[in-house]
Amino acid sequence: MTGARVGSALTDEQAAVRDLVEEFAAEEVRPNAAEADETETFPEDVWDGLAELGLTGLTVPEEYGGFGADKTTYAVVNEALAHGSLAVATALSVHCLATSCIAEFGTEAQREAWLPEMAETGRPVGMFCLSEPQAGSNPAQMATTATYDPEADEYVLNGEKQWITNGRRGGVAIVFAKAAGEGDADSDELDDAITQFLVPADTDGFEVGKKEEKLGLRASDTTGITFDDCRVPAENRLTEEGKGLSAAFRTLTEGRIGIAAQAVGVAQAALDEATSYAEEREQFDRPIGDIQTIRHKLAEMSTDVSAARLLVREACRQAEAGEDYRVAASKAKYRASEAAMSVTNEAVQIHGGYGYTTEFDVERLYRDAKITEIYEGTTEIQKTIIARGVFGE
Ligand SMILES: Cc1cc2nc3c(=O)[nH]c(=O)nc-3n(C[C@H](O)[C@H](O)[C@H](O)COP(=O)(O)OP(=O)(O)OC[C@H]3O[C@@H](n4cnc5c(N)ncnc54)[C@H](O)[C@@H]3O)c2cc1C
Repeated sequence: MTGARVGSALTDEQAAVRDLVEEFAAEEVRPNAAEADETETFPEDVWDGLAELGLTGLTVPEEYGGFGADKTTYAVVNEALAHGSLAVATALSVHCLATSCIAEFGTEAQREAWLPEMAETGRPVGMFCLSEPQAGSNPAQMATTATYDPEADEYVLNGEKQWITNGRRGGVAIVFAKAAGEGDADSDELDDAITQFLVPADTDGFEVGKKEEKLGLRASDTTGITFDDCRVPAENRLTEEGKGLSAAFRTLTEGRIGIAAQAVGVAQAALDEATSYAEEREQFDRPIGDIQTIRHKLAEMSTDVSAARLLVREACRQAEAGEDYRVAASKAKYRASEAAMSVTNEAVQIHGGYGYTTEFDVERLYRDAKITEIYEGTTEIQKTIIARGVFGE
């Protein structure tokens, strides 16, 4: 990466992890990112490499065979991986959402049954099934139900989830549904009944839907998932009935730090590409990097990346200090995703016509950056959370 990296006050251990992942991303991830994007194929060999490095257990506590990463380490890993490929970083962060749910909300038996394998081998790959066709920013509007069958001591899931990352490659899903305990399916009561379930993908009635054709993040596997009388044992419930939505919001706040860090990684990659190009490309008998207009663009891009990284680090610091870091996480995601958009845009501009072609990575980075403003809470939702902080609400 070019230039001094502001916000790099890491411990020796955190810096060592960052260096390791940067090397892996540069050698194993980035070289194949364009092809994976073009063929819309997730690089499973890279996933196995992540497992070998222990990163598929990034947020799994050490007693279950995981890395037990602190928030700063989680962020630097996400940034370094996204520098190589946002699709790979996204797949890992969603797997981490799933392992975090099991670690934080699961019973001892659930943790022992799932976490060691998911950490050590990266299999089964985790999914996080919250969004639905009619319920995105407001997940409380979800229609998926889980009806308790007392005779079988099972829940019967019915409904449709949308935009599920790792949808085809995933082996286990954290599913949010409105639980109707004791078989009472009265819809008013269901409003407050969102509950989390752990559902293996090979359960009867778990149906993977069509793969989404996307603007960017094309190597990431995004599908719908339908539950058609999908029966799970009651012991697969992760929280008490009605406690699922607050659990989802807690998990998503943690996840936002990861998405913000990924946005920084994409922006840094675009800055690096644009800097190299500006050094090499000559017009008017000199490198375009000697032209003040281009130098100022790079100065602004570099400042945006540094500011975004500092907001990510501040959110990590608050989280590690045990503070309420919801506003800080939203500020980091809002500003870092905005930086990813503006920096990739300028990186394409600095490449001129070449930047508009698939020959150069900035074209893919530009398309990929957009998603960071949308998933795990849109920019508008981040601003709503930040405004609540402004008013002390
Ligand atoms: C590639 C990809 C991967 C994804 N992966 C997953 C996944 O693994 N699991 C999962 O559960 N979901 C996933 N999602 C879903 C994602 O989190 C949602 O798309 C996102 O939360 C927005 O929901 P929506 O698309 O329904 O938009 P909507 O909620 O319909 O929003 C439409 C527009 O209205 C705005 N808006 C809505 N409500 C408000 C409000 N109150 N105030 C101001 N503005 C508002 C939004 O900001 C947006 O601009 C993924 C999405 C994509 C595209």
